[in-house]
Amino acid sequence: MGRCVRCGAVGTVQRDHRQNRMRGNTVASNLQALCPRCHQFKSEHPMLATEEGWSVPRWGVPSSWPAQRMVCGPHGLHLVWVLYDDLGGCARSTRPRRDG
Ligand SMILES: [Zn+2]
Repeated sequence: MGRCVRCGAVGTVQRDHRQNRMRGNTVASNLQALCPRCHQFKSEHPMLATEEGWSVPRWGVPSSWPAQRMVCGPHGLHLVWVLYDDLGGCARSTRPRRDG
């Protein structure tokens, strides 16, 4: 049980590697909880998922690659950009700048 970071649904979530799993990247900054539906979306739309902050490309560093995350605020659920650290925390960030 947990809350999906993408849609905010509470229920069954899967531990997802933001950057495709490879040696050494099973660290807190690279993990997020996704519901099965959002997990499937991420798998099926890798480009969009990266743009929207659910995926980190192979060459990226998860702890310095901003992610989106659904949080509970005073006005309900909303998405914010964060940077995850390797201690299980996160700090507010801004949408990454895109080239071109
Ligand atoms: Zn979801």
